[in-house]
Amino acid sequence: MADSMRALIFHAPGNIKVEQRPVPDIGPGDVLLKVGATSVCASDIRVYRGEKKAAAGVITGHEFAGSVVRIGEGVQDVAVGDRTIVCPIIACGACYYCQIGRRNRCLKRLTLGYDVDGGFADYVRVPEAVVRLGHMIPLDSELPYDLASITEPMACALNSLESCKVLPGSTMAILGCGPMGLMHLVLGRAMGASKIIMSDPVEERRRVAEELGATVVIDPTKHSIAAETKARTNGLGADAGFLSIGITELVEEGLGAVRKEGYFNLFAGFPPSARIDMEANRIHYDEIFMTGTQNATTDHYVRVSQMLPHMPGAQRLITNRYQPEEANLAYEARLGLSGLKAVVVYEGA
Ligand SMILES: [Zn+2]
Ligand SMILES: [Zn+2]
Repeated sequence: MADSMRALIFHAPGNIKVEQRPVPDIGPGDVLLKVGATSVCASDIRVYRGEKKAAAGVITGHEFAGSVVRIGEGVQDVAVGDRTIVCPIIACGACYYCQIGRRNRCLKRLTLGYDVDGGFADYVRVPEAVVRLGHMIPLDSELPYDLASITEPMACALNSLESCKVLPGSTMAILGCGPMGLMHLVLGRAMGASKIIMSDPVEERRRVAEELGATVVIDPTKHSIAAETKARTNGLGADAGFLSIGITELVEEGLGAVRKEGYFNLFAGFPPSARIDMEANRIHYDEIFMTGTQNATTDHYVRVSQMLPHMPGAQRLITNRYQPEEANLAYEARLGLSGLKAVVVYEGA
């Protein structure tokens, strides 16, 4: 094994670079993973823009899959050669939220790719706490690494759908046909949702949404998703609505697409201190459950890893592939809204 590796380093907002770093040493309980593929998340872009915090000098990337090449002293449940994805959350295991199984809400949570070195590198040290908590999830032998790398965002989407009680036959309205909006669509289809009404101003994204089974996809600069959804649901509105684009001005329009006693999820993150202006009585009289979701529990990761090999269309979400030396270009693709998921592929995993 070489002693140095290629890694994408976050220095400051607007400043990321591929650099050589030593291959990490591992201690007792740690695991060394040879990365197969790592995908860029919308939240990586928010860090790049300075809207979300990460440690200066950290190796970015929390959506990755790879194979185990070394295990530390005492590791029992993971073996060299295992192909895995990693739930990138380092949870304390002892706080209130950890006790109730909501490790994504851990009060002392650290996350790989933000606080601790992550997956945009040839190798990643998976810390002892992650291994001990069972956050290394084995992969189906058929599942390629690029597809496996989107387990994390897909788990976040599953958490979103389940928080909004999507059931077989449910109707959905999704604002935004970016990668996350489309993951809501693909999962909604897999879970048996009926009508799925979507909107996006970018024509290419609308086309992909149609290909992946959206009932109708509108251009919000010309039509209203609230009106379109009502027209297709006997005037009721959708059972569940999802805001998958971080623009608070769209909250009211999105709520307009949801029926009484329906659910509405602010799935996207927003710029710091963004505020919402809306008619409060819509929540009161119509008893709409408005919520937010972020990340997912390991239960979601495990179920997504089992669904992914059987989800037609998921591969269609990966449009841009890059070499490790040009990992920064994967960020540029996302910044320029070119394509959907951008993945860096590391050879030899
Ligand atoms: Zn992510
Ligand atoms: Zn905790």
